[in-house]
Amino acid sequence: IFDFLVVGAGPAGAAAAIYGARKGIRTGIVADRFGGQVLDTVGIENFISVKATEGPKLAASLEEHVRDYEVDIMNDQRAAKLTAGELIEIELENGAKLTSRAVMLATGARWREMNVPGEKEYRGRGVAYCPHCDGPLFKGKRVAVIGGGNSGIEAAIDLAGIVEHVTVLEFGNSLRADDVLQRKARSMKNVTIITEAQTTEVTGDGARVTGLNYTHRGTGEQHHVALSGIFVQIGLVPNTEWLKGSGVELSRFGEIMVGTRGETSLPGVFAAGDVTNVPYKQIIIAMGSGANAALGAFDHLIRSSAP
Ligand code: FAD
Repeated sequence: IFDFLVVGAGPAGAAAAIYGARKGIRTGIVADRFGGQVLDTVGIENFISVKATEGPKLAASLEEHVRDYEVDIMNDQRAAKLTAGELIEIELENGAKLTSRAVMLATGARWREMNVPGEKEYRGRGVAYCPHCDGPLFKGKRVAVIGGGNSGIEAAIDLAGIVEHVTVLEFGNSLRADDVLQRKARSMKNVTIITEAQTTEVTGDGARVTGLNYTHRGTGEQHHVALSGIFVQIGLVPNTEWLKGSGVELSRFGEIMVGTRGETSLPGVFAAGDVTNVPYKQIIIAMGSGANAALGAFDHLIRSSAP
């Protein structure tokens, strides 16, 4: 039996495990991939106090820091089910069951991909998913934003201030973003919006992205746009499929709803990072929220009767 069991070992889970262990409580961390999305990141320039680093390097330091403490690390394991109660039970895909007095959910999220040729090949070499992270790498260049929802149009407005030109490609007949965002984007001279555009391929020269091809769904015509970068903004999916039916309240996007101490709708169950309804998804924010939720869980433990 753990006092504090963390599910997920990205920045949020790693921070929570360290905060838990530093309180001297029996802490465990179970994860599919130690490091989470950080492992998929090439350059990181906004992790404050570290001017520039690389994803795998930061992921390795996260693990090294956690290993410095008495934390039971269970790697390459996926959680499949959560059962609430006096003690919370986490069942793994391999059938093993773990129980804990408090649980912290930090299973993160994943960007929805276009699933077109070239996308995977040029990921990190022109294909990007996070304008806050990678926008400055495209200073003075031409880029596209795929998706005309709120995140796509926010990204276009954000990028227009940094890059030379932004082409927004929306699959539907009209943009889905809020009116105020659409007006702002349309007022910007270096933003072009194309609707009914189905991206069919990311093109590159073997080293980097050179552009994209799309089909206009109205006319059926094929087009090529020459670009240095493509920001895919068609949704961030929280890894909460395994929590359906557990009683943990989710938003309509599937994110875990949390309060100011990281508490969820179930007593003893806390959550942090990209898997929650926190509005901005970044490494530094995930780490802060992991620390916050671990302290919330500790507060809960000292108030509940010891088993
Ligand atoms: P994650 O990093 O998603 O970690 C989730 C953890 O949960 C992983 O260990 C995973 O294996 C595990 N997991 C998931 N499901 C299960 C399950 N069922 N059972 C057990 N374990 C499970 N942010 C920045 O601040 N700066 C950047 O430059 C930056 N660049 C990025 C570039 C890319 C390509 C991507 C994809 C993201 C980038 N981000 C960047 C965002 C940043 O990586 C995330 O905000 C951050 O990693 C979120 O941390 P997290 O701990 O909440 O979740």
